Amino acid sequence: AKDNSSNDVKNGQGYKGHSMLAPFTAGWQSSDLHPLIIEKSEGSYVYDINGKKYLDALAGLWATSLGGSEPRLVDAAVAQLKKLPFYHSFWNRTTLPSLDLAKELLEMFTARKMGKAFFVNSGSEANDTQVKLVWYYNNALGRPDKKKFIARAKSYHGSTLIAASLSGLPALHQKFDLPAPFVLHTDCPHYWRYHLPGETEEEFSTRLANNLEQLILKEGPETIAAFIAEPVMGAGGVIPPPSTYFEKVQAVVKKYDILFIADEVICAFGRLGTMFGCDKYNIKPDLVSLAKALSSAYLPIGAVLVSPEISEVIHDQSNKLGSFSHGFTYSGHPAACAVAIEALKIYKERNIVDQVNKIAPRFQDGIKAFSDSPIIGEIRGTGLILGTEFTDNKSPNDPFPPEWGIGAYFGAQCEKHGMLVRVAGDNIMMSPPYIISPGEVEEVTSQITFTKISSS
Ligand code: PLP
Repeated sequence: AKDNSSNDVKNGQGYKGHSMLAPFTAGWQSSDLHPLIIEKSEGSYVYDINGKKYLDALAGLWATSLGGSEPRLVDAAVAQLKKLPFYHSFWNRTTLPSLDLAKELLEMFTARKMGKAFFVNSGSEANDTQVKLVWYYNNALGRPDKKKFIARAKSYHGSTLIAASLSGLPALHQKFDLPAPFVLHTDCPHYWRYHLPGETEEEFSTRLANNLEQLILKEGPETIAAFIAEPVMGAGGVIPPPSTYFEKVQAVVKKYDILFIADEVICAFGRLGTMFGCDKYNIKPDLVSLAKALSSAYLPIGAVLVSPEISEVIHDQSNKLGSFSHGFTYSGHPAACAVAIEALKIYKERNIVDQVNKIAPRFQDGIKAFSDSPIIGEIRGTGLILGTEFTDNKSPNDPFPPEWGIGAYFGAQCEKHGMLVRVAGDNIMMSPPYIISPGEVEEVTSQITFTKISSS
C-alpha cells in the first residue's frame, strides 16, 4: 500500500482534487486535472516530481531573475536565518539588513531622487501601500477630496482589494464587487490593437494623453490623487508603451498636480535592459512599487520608494498623529532583506543590465522571426520580456473563437515539450531568467517552431 501511494504521488495522481484553494486556478482544473508539481530547480530549468525538465521561460512568475540555483542567495538567507531569523521594524526598532537595503535601493534608483523606502512582502502589498500613502499625504496637505486613482485598462497591479481594483483586467473584478469606486480606468496604450487607421504611434499617444486629460477634467482635477502605470504592461499581454506615451502622460498628470506611481514590480532590476523601467522611458515617478526580482523571488519581499516631498509630509503628519500607522509584521523581514541585498550586489557585480542587453536581441529576434506566421497577430516585447498574440488574418479585430483555446493549446504544447510559459487567452508570454544562455534561447525558439508546426 505504501508503494502504491508513493507511486500515486510520483505520477501526480495523488493530488488530483487536492486540498489547496489554488490562486488563479479554475475549480475544474484542481478537481479534474493533476497539478503540475514542481520539485526542484537548476539554472533556467525546473523539474517536476517525475524528474521531467522544463525550461522556465517565465522565471517562475516573472520573478526568478537569477534562475533557480544561485548559491549566493541561499547562503545569504541561511546566514541571516542563523544570526537573526526575525525581528520587526515597528516603533523605530529594526534590523541592519532592512536599513542597508533601504539605503541601497535609494542609491540604485536614479531616474529621480527618492526619499525613503517602505518594505512590504509582495507587489500587491506595495500597491495597496501606495494608495494609503497617497491618501495620508493628501489628508496631511488638507486636500481631503483628492483621493481618486487613475489606472489603465489591461494593467495588472496585484490581487488584494486595492491592487485588484487598480488592475484593469475584468477577471479581477467580476464577482468580487470590484473595482472600488475611487478607481478609474483610462485607455490601454496598445498601439497595434487600438490605433485608428492611419494614426502614427505619436498621434496615438497624443490621443491617449488627451483622453486622460478629459477624464481628469470630467472628474475634477481636485479629486484625482494619482496615476499608476507599469512601464511595460505585463500580465495584460506584455505591452510596451508606444513612442512618446510616457512623455505625454507625465505632462498631463503634472499639469493637474497628480502623483505618478510607477509599478516596477516586473520591470525593475534589468528586465527591460535598463536597471529600472523608469530609466528606459524617462519616467520621473513620485512613488515606485518593487517586488519579484528584488530578491530574485527567493524570499518574498517588496518595497515602495517614496519621493522626498511625500516622505517629508508623512514625517510631519505622523508627528502630529503619534505614528505612521501602517505596516506589516514582515515589513523588512531580515532574511528577505539579506537575500535582496545579495541579489542587488549580484546585479551590480555581474553588470546585469549589460548581460540582459547582450542576450535580449537573440531572444527577441529569435521569436519575432515567427511574426509572418498566419496565426500570429503580433509579437511584442523588449529586453527579456515578450508576448505573442494569436489572431486570424494578422488583425487585432479577428480573434480566434475562444472555444478553440489556441493560447491554451500552445501553452499545453510547450509544457508537454518541456517549456513553461504564461498563457492568458490567446496570448503567450515569456520572461526568462537573466541567466538564460544562448543555447537555452535556441531551445525556446525551437519550442515555438515545434508548436507552430503542430498547430498546422
Ligand atoms: N504589479 C505588477 C506589475 C505585477 O506584475 C504583479 C504580479 O505579477 C503585481 C503587482 C502583484 O505582485 P504580487 O503577486 O507579488 O502581489
